[in-house]
Amino acid sequence: MSVPPAPSAEPARSVVALSGGVGGARFLRGTLAALRAGRLPGVAVDAHVTVVANTADDWWVHGLKVCPDLDTVMYTLGGGIDAERGWGRQDETWTVGAELAAYGAEPTWFGLGDRDLATHLVRTQMVEAGYPLSAVTAALCRRWQPDVELLPMTDDRVETHVLLADDAEPSGRRTVHFQEYWVRLRAEPAAQAVVVVGLDRSSPAPGVLEAVAGADLVLVPPSNPIVSVGTILGVPGLRDALRAGPAPVVGVSPIIGRDHVHGMARQLLEGLGVDVSATGVALHHGARAADGVLDGWLVAEEDADQVAAVEAAGIACRAVPLLMTDDAATGVMAAEAVALVRP
Ligand code: GDP
Ligand code: CA
Repeated sequence: MSVPPAPSAEPARSVVALSGGVGGARFLRGTLAALRAGRLPGVAVDAHVTVVANTADDWWVHGLKVCPDLDTVMYTLGGGIDAERGWGRQDETWTVGAELAAYGAEPTWFGLGDRDLATHLVRTQMVEAGYPLSAVTAALCRRWQPDVELLPMTDDRVETHVLLADDAEPSGRRTVHFQEYWVRLRAEPAAQAVVVVGLDRSSPAPGVLEAVAGADLVLVPPSNPIVSVGTILGVPGLRDALRAGPAPVVGVSPIIGRDHVHGMARQLLEGLGVDVSATGVALHHGARAADGVLDGWLVAEEDADQVAAVEAAGIACRAVPLLMTDDAATGVMAAEAVALVRP
């Protein structure tokens, strides 16, 4: 059994966060704003923040390597994000995509903005020249200065695929790439399983295990528990490093009531037989004391009646407002998360 780290009186100087795309990036932007303004008690104002981002949504399209979650974090923290969409570049135009569609070049359902394309072109050139994704990401971040060290979870190729029922197939089933499930099918068909191709053979990117081993605090934003946080935790060695590491691990529920706030977490949790609730997700990630990773978990005010169940599982828990309506609200949420594990 793994014992939770003893609370420290010293402010955290080294913070690690595990992030998906839009949900993770929003949480990180509000958290960083609060941190740098000295409004995150228990965390030093100049703390070093490492973000370990999901790369299992990555794919190759029109000959380009696209990393949606890395880019969403990079653009959001670097000031280049389209605030309304929550992904892609602000002031975007779509000329190249329209030209590709005019050729009938598939997939026509995947939006690639002109500004965004520059990122994918630079990345693809570097990858094809032999640079690992971690080095490419560092190079792209030299432009965006996201104020965090942004690391892919792995340099290896890992891709999430979703298993769907399909009567037209002899087997009665087919798999689609995560992007096709999300962007083309809008996560409408029920997911029977999630298959993360290559995950079990992957290894953490350079710097990931070192960051976890040296962390004073680990944050789990309200990112998708299956295809964002779940894939990161599935990189061999990462879960064990968190469990053995010195830092408390505290997370925020992406589920409020019986549904996600945005996205597809509900569909995927249902498909995998996980109870769609804040408690269900907490138990899915697990308590450190019970082979899991969590020491603390925030649930929404509406779910205050679940606090006892989460605590009974060995995870410190509080019910607080969990809607990231703006950076200030998110910063308050982050402070509550820190207070749970660094009282
Ligand atoms: P993606 O990669 O773009 O899907 O983004 P993430 O995986 O990082 O985050 C998606 C998750 O964020 C979804 O499951 C949402 O329920 C959750 N989410 C989005 N906005 C909010 C919010 O305001 N509050 C909470 N608690 N969760 C949110
Ligand atoms: Ca994602």
